[in-house]
Amino acid sequence: MMHKVSVPEESTSCLPCRVNPMGLICTCKQARKTGICHAIVAVNHRCGKINIASELMKMGKKKKKKAVHRATGRRQMQPESSSDSETDEEQTLSDLPTSSDED
Ligand SMILES: [Zn+2]
Repeated sequence: MMHKVSVPEESTSCLPCRVNPMGLICTCKQARKTGICHAIVAVNHRCGKINIASELMKMGKKKKKKAVHRATGRRQMQPESSSDSETDEEQTLSDLPTSSDED
């Protein structure tokens, strides 16, 4: 998949967001799906529109999870973890290269 960032001819084809003030679009799968990708962010950064470092810091601060749980002893043994959901499957599979060389 190629990243080809360009300025959309119609302004409606892009959802402007904080890290994409130039309203760029990209041809890659992620950008088509989510409207943003690292290439778009990189171009905005190169043009001096955003500062990746500060944006990343904001993102990091957005969710602040406090680790309240403290193991106090053997009693805090975790129960057997039940099988997790398989919601990640689709994402993982779509990014796998299709190679048939396996022997
Ligand atoms: Zn892209």
